[in-house]
Amino acid sequence: MDPEAVALVIVDISGYTQFIRFHRTTLPHAQEVTSQLLESVIDKASHPLVLNKLEGDAAFLYAALGDDPAAAARDIAGQVAGFFAAFHGRARDLSAGRAGCACDACQRIRDLQLKAVLHVGEASFRRIRQFEELAGEDVILVHRLLKNSVAAHEYVLMTESFHRLLGDAGAAWGEARVEAYDDLGPVAVRVSYPTASPGMADRTDSKGMPFVI
Ligand SMILES: [Zn+2]
Repeated sequence: MDPEAVALVIVDISGYTQFIRFHRTTLPHAQEVTSQLLESVIDKASHPLVLNKLEGDAAFLYAALGDDPAAAARDIAGQVAGFFAAFHGRARDLSAGRAGCACDACQRIRDLQLKAVLHVGEASFRRIRQFEELAGEDVILVHRLLKNSVAAHEYVLMTESFHRLLGDAGAAWGEARVEAYDDLGPVAVRVSYPTASPGMADRTDSKGMPFVI
């Protein structure tokens, strides 16, 4: 199969494992909460983004770049900004709805955070019945980027190749960093911290871009 030009997006919930102790009642509540939060994010995804699969507390999405890759990249960046607002909106509701449960999972919902990694490149598609599998170096890279040197638990990280597609619209976006991987070499990225200040997740510019730093 010929590789196709695609944008690749992973959204990942920074899990409970960092800060709660699991008891028999905590675990099912933790799973319910993370499932609902992940659902709130993927419900927000629309064309050109397609959900490929769930990977634990993460979701892997892709978009065909089509005839206008720059427009697709702007659209995707705008959708990703919306993911953060949806995530925190749902977290607020869940936290209020579960205030009566004393377990760690229900008490600490507002501590959960979201990260998103965006990349453009090529992927080969293998289709088996209703399932689609994406393969290739760029698919590996976007997954590897989840492990990085960023200290924050909530951020949008995009590779320079994604960032370049945004053109002038993305000129001032994010902090330039380099992530190094033994087998993949250095990867230039940009990182933005959309919810570093209260209310930032809801703030996007006129094009719906997550231009918050
Ligand atoms: Zn609970």
